[in-house]
Amino acid sequence: MKSISGIPASYGIAIGPAFVFTRVEIVIEPCNIQDPKAEWKRFVQAQEETSKQLDVAYLKAQEELGEEEAGIFEAQKLMLQDPELINTVKSRVDSELINVETALYESAESFALQLEAIEDEYLSARALDIRDVSSRLLRNLLGLKNSPADGLKIPSIITAQDLTPSDTVMLNKDLVLGFCIEVGGSTSHTAILARGLGIPAVVGAGEPLRKIKTGDKLVIDGDAGEIIIDADKKSLKQFRDRQKKFLMAQADAEAISHQPAITTDGHQVEVVANIGSVDDVQPAILSGAEGVGLLRSEFLYLERSSLPTEEEQYESYKTIGDAFGDRPVILRSLDVGGDKDIPYIDMPPEANPFLGVRAIRLCLSRPDIFKPQLRAALRAGYGNNLKLMFPMVATVEDVVKIREVLEECKQELRDEGYDVAEEMEIGIMIEIPSAAILADQLTEVVDFFSIGTNDLSQYALAADRTNAQVAPMASGFQPAVFRLIKMVIDAAHAKGKWVGLCGEMAGELLAIPILLGLGLDEFSMNPPAVPFAKRLIRSISMEHARQVAETAINLKGDKEIRKYVQEAVPEVNRG
Ligand code: PEP
Ligand code: MG
Repeated sequence: MKSISGIPASYGIAIGPAFVFTRVEIVIEPCNIQDPKAEWKRFVQAQEETSKQLDVAYLKAQEELGEEEAGIFEAQKLMLQDPELINTVKSRVDSELINVETALYESAESFALQLEAIEDEYLSARALDIRDVSSRLLRNLLGLKNSPADGLKIPSIITAQDLTPSDTVMLNKDLVLGFCIEVGGSTSHTAILARGLGIPAVVGAGEPLRKIKTGDKLVIDGDAGEIIIDADKKSLKQFRDRQKKFLMAQADAEAISHQPAITTDGHQVEVVANIGSVDDVQPAILSGAEGVGLLRSEFLYLERSSLPTEEEQYESYKTIGDAFGDRPVILRSLDVGGDKDIPYIDMPPEANPFLGVRAIRLCLSRPDIFKPQLRAALRAGYGNNLKLMFPMVATVEDVVKIREVLEECKQELRDEGYDVAEEMEIGIMIEIPSAAILADQLTEVVDFFSIGTNDLSQYALAADRTNAQVAPMASGFQPAVFRLIKMVIDAAHAKGKWVGLCGEMAGELLAIPILLGLGLDEFSMNPPAVPFAKRLIRSISMEHARQVAETAINLKGDKEIRKYVQEAVPEVNRG
């Protein structure tokens, strides 16, 4: 029995044979050609064939995964026509008289390396897309038809160095028990996909994964981020028991997921979902979410080459707002900058992007981006319960500026004869310590707060959440972070305002009793976490949660707090 450690990416236990997903090696033999015209004709034919394959992949992805995932193939089709890439390839074929495979491979690789060098998560993903498209083209040029997914015939655990969007779409999901991936972090494409599908996954497992062969007996522990090869009888039994318990707990949680989140002594809170697109609406409703606590609008801006228009945004916001009817949907204004970049928005490089022109700062400096979004939201919120919220607010002055632009938009819309959501509630995210400290002042100018602990923790502990060496320090399970949360909730409640939390912590079972005890009113999380969160809240008393919170905020740090909650609230165990 051997084990490999990685990063937990999606909960649950998977047991089954390995299926090693290896791409067919594409061997390119550089050679000289005589007839560049004939060579280019081959390229154009391969380009057409690739384009048709991408259409098929798009439809398959749309059916299996939804519009957002499918959008990747639309973006890849654009890359296939990218003039910069195509012109480079053509001019090399014409001037150097080399075969088109060599010209394409080298040019695409050089583009991909340039993107990777920028050390930006979004651009790294684009590098992967460029390689994905160029290898499709190369396979077509070389007449390599077989897909590495063809060999998957029985339910298996997929192991791979990495999975591109094309790879993932080719896999028959009914036969996928789990994923083990060599590279990536918990926000990588495969991790997000696995969570969405509810399939256990471990990512970032590194080179030891290469020792696994198809057919090897594997166990994945998606909670601990462990991959076990050839588990002995005793451990296998333990894993099977845990798997059974997990599935039972899941069924148990799902059975009450549409009931309200009320503690045993009658205190009710709201459990809502974090979503990113129209496609996420149904899974959120099915999970039992009572609305949307965070609609990350930046997803509308990704996978395209220009800003979405007011009309496009209106359509999306309206569809989502109406789908939830009277239930709340909190739309967050565009949150880019920091580690999120949109190539077509000009953002000059900064020494400290997380402390720079990010989120609301970018929007306030770019009315051409901000105003269409506000106008779309104000129109879309008419007749439903859409609310607006702004990220990275640091001061009351920020809110005053936001309100000025909002008023300007309202007036314009009224003058143009549109129906406007005049009474739309306006909130801010509490992500910067200054906002937490000034919560009493900020309650005067907003209707609600939503605490963004992913950022609040990194700013409070001065630890970059994207830097692997210090990211664990940016844990929300620090007394300093809980005390800031307490300050915010107390200040808001003193003025009769409500407080939500939409950072990852809201869905973490160990954090829920503390947050509940501190008086949090709304918990916003990934849809698959909703049933478990509701089950936990319904099984504990507010009185106990208050005691737990009081003790926790006086403990010394992450480990101590987690250990304490584990012991004090046995209900936090998922099963
Ligand atoms: C947060 O910071 O907690 C948050 C929800 O925003 P994001 O993770 O999108 O920065
Ligand atoms: Mg944030």
